[in-house]
Formats: sequence, structure tokens, C-alpha cells
Amino acid sequence: MTPAAETSKRVQAGPGPVDVLGLDRDALQAWVGTLGHKPFRARQLLRWLHQRGADSFAGMSDLARELREELEVRATIGAAPVLRREDSRDGTRKWLIDVGAGEAVETVYIPEPGRGTLCVSSQAGCAVHCAFCATGAQGFSRNLTSGQIAGQLWMANRELRAQGLGERPVTNVVLMGMGEPLQNYDALLPALRLMLDDDAYGLSRRRVTVSTAGMVPMIDRLARDCPVALAVSLHAPDDALRDRLVPLNRKYPLRELLAACRRYLEFAPRDFITIEYVLLAGVNDSPEQARAVLALLRTLSCKVNLIAFNPYPGSELRRPEPAVVKAFASVLQEGGLTVTTRRTRGDDIDAACGQLAGSVRDRTEVVLRRRDAVSAAEPAAEPAAESAAESAAESA
Ligand code: SAH
Ligand code: SF4
Repeated sequence: MTPAAETSKRVQAGPGPVDVLGLDRDALQAWVGTLGHKPFRARQLLRWLHQRGADSFAGMSDLARELREELEVRATIGAAPVLRREDSRDGTRKWLIDVGAGEAVETVYIPEPGRGTLCVSSQAGCAVHCAFCATGAQGFSRNLTSGQIAGQLWMANRELRAQGLGERPVTNVVLMGMGEPLQNYDALLPALRLMLDDDAYGLSRRRVTVSTAGMVPMIDRLARDCPVALAVSLHAPDDALRDRLVPLNRKYPLRELLAACRRYLEFAPRDFITIEYVLLAGVNDSPEQARAVLALLRTLSCKVNLIAFNPYPGSELRRPEPAVVKAFASVLQEGGLTVTTRRTRGDDIDAACGQLAGSVRDRTEVVLRRRDAVSAAEPAAEPAAESAAESAAESA
């Protein structure tokens, strides 16, 4: 489909009011055009919605009254409602967001000196079913809309700004919440474009990271359509093990995935790909496996982000001892790779990687069970290590 046809499909979609929060510049221009208004109205709307965080059309004072009235009837600002907020002892904040049909997703804000990273969800549940992931264990429920994806940034900026955390509290976005973003590409793309648009969120491409379990064809499409920073979840040095841990590998094996990473580098805003590797005790954390990872990655321009497994109830997998994590990191470092180890952030509110389950159903019970499990199982965070999303979201 041509970009123009794509835009008009999005604009025409659905009989009800249009959710303007999910329309990127081109789509918004096309839509205001269908109402008989000039393209610059789209720019005004973008600024009101995304820069100022407007939640109604009535206050958009520089729009003609007729346009405002038309907007009231034909459009909505469809940010998904917040069901609950939780604040971690370390400043991490988590929101539970209603995305319809009884499903909820989570958005996590991770403040760090000099930056604030928002970890955004793209789907309720996930169809990839990775063996170590709470979201995968839940199964796939539904795709978020563009408005629900961009709306997480809209909502977080509004709330954090209101708390006096600066004009633009979110400086980095990582698509590392619930879901596989490249399996919801059509909704992801306009949301990414809004994140980058100077009249919307104005983030640099280097500060927006898409994390994928390895959707090879969509990595190529992202390179063409909207090359932002890329993180790839590796988790195993060979196909036999990766087939088990990340079932998507059966479709797109390691050789194809690494070839896609190399192709992506030609378009990427950074000169490296982030490689994520969740360390699972006794499964993928041996020195031999570290050497195999090294051999695999030696010729790829990348930075490796090691994540010690975050346990969740129902999973039999275990987190390796800190010494094992350190030994694994040393093998890679001595082989010349840049390696960071994520410090667990927000684990007291289940906001750490892989702990985002998010369903409203049984939620209270899950949270209570998980709290017990986490406080029993979690060792203290390693002080010298890097924080969640930090390496992937390293600021420009
Ligand atoms: N679906 C995408 C992005 C969301 S998951 C992906 O898989 O890349 C974001 C990161 O959290 C991934 O690297 C994933 O492997 C990691 N993760 C998932 N479950 C985890 C767990 N239980 N402990 C630690 N990291 C986990
Ligand atoms: Fe889905 Fe990513 Fe979890 Fe795998 S790790 S199940 S791809 S969210």
C-alpha cells in the first residue's frame, strides 16, 4: 500500500469519532483536510495534544470556534484511562492502563540522573510465548491502537509535569513493556512518528528504542519506515536453545536474525544494536555459552545488555547468582564486547523486566502472590550495575 493509501485507510477507519491522539502528522493533515481545513491546523493540533497535553478541544484557543465544535463531535482524545498508579521506593512509577475488553497494560517510568525513561507497552499479552516472560505466559489478548501507544507518553508527561518534574519529564522511550512491538507494526509506526515529530514529542531517534524478539521482516520495514534505536532479545547462542526460549526463533533463526541486524545498522541512528540477554540459572548462563555468544556477536557492531532473570510466580526458572552473571559478563568483555548488566528497578511494584503481566482479571490476587514471591526470592540489587532500560536507552 502507498503511504497515502495507508494514511487514508487509517483516517477512514471506524464509524465513530477519530482518536486524534494516534494520528501522526500526515494522517492528521489528511483528516483535517477531509473536514475542509488547511494543513497547518494539523500542526496546531499536534502541539496542543502532545506538547501541551491538552485533554479537551474546548481550550485550544488558537483554533477557530467552528473547528473546535467540529472536533468535539468528530474526534476524541482517546488516552486509555489509568486504573492504578504505584510508586517504587527507587522512584520508579508504574501505571496500570485500561485498554478495553477487560484488558490492561502497564507503563513504567524510570527516573535517572539527567533523564527519564518511559517503558511503553504495545500489546496486551504477547503471542511469542518466551519461556521466561510473565507477559508471554499470559498469552496474546489484543493489540494496542496507535493512540493507546502514544497515549502512554501523553499521560506520563502530563502527570509527571503536573508534579513539577520539568516541562518534558520523559526524555527516552523504550518499547520494552508488554508485547512484541513488531507484531503490532501498523499501530506502532504512527506512534513512533509522533514520538519523533518536533511538533509532538520531539525525541531524537537515538532516544527511542524498539525492542524485538526477532521479527526479521519487520526489522527491515522499520529500517525503511522509521529507523529508531534497535534492541534485539537474543537469550541463547544456538538455535536449539533459542527455539525453546524464544519460539519465534523457529521461524526466524539466528543466522537470519543477525543478518537483519547487520542490514539495520545501515539505517540505524546509532552505530550499534543493543543485544538483550536474560540470564537463566543453569539454562543459558555457563562460561561455554558465554564464549558461544561472543563468537556469534564478535563481528556485529553491538552492545550487550545482560539481565538477570526476574522471577514471577508460576515460573520454575531461577535467577543466577551474581558471581555467575559477573563471570558471563567477563567472558564477553575480555573478548572485546561492550557489556552492561541491568540493575533491577521497581521490583517492589513488579515493574521490573518480564514482570509486567497486566491483566485486570485476577490482578489483585496476582499482585499479592507476586509480592510475596518477589520479597522472598529477590536478592538486593547490585549497586554498581546499570539500571533497567539504561543501556538500551543510553542518551545521545
Ligand atoms: N517483546 C519485546 C519487548 C518486550 S520484553 C522483546 O522481547 O524484546 C523487554 C525485555 O524484557 C526483553 O529483552 C525480554 O527478554 C526481557 N524479559 C522478559 N521477561 C523477563 C524476565 N522474567 N526477567 C528479565 N527480563 C525479561
Ligand atoms: Fe513477548 Fe517479549 Fe515477553 Fe517474549 S519477552 S513473550 S516477545 S513480551
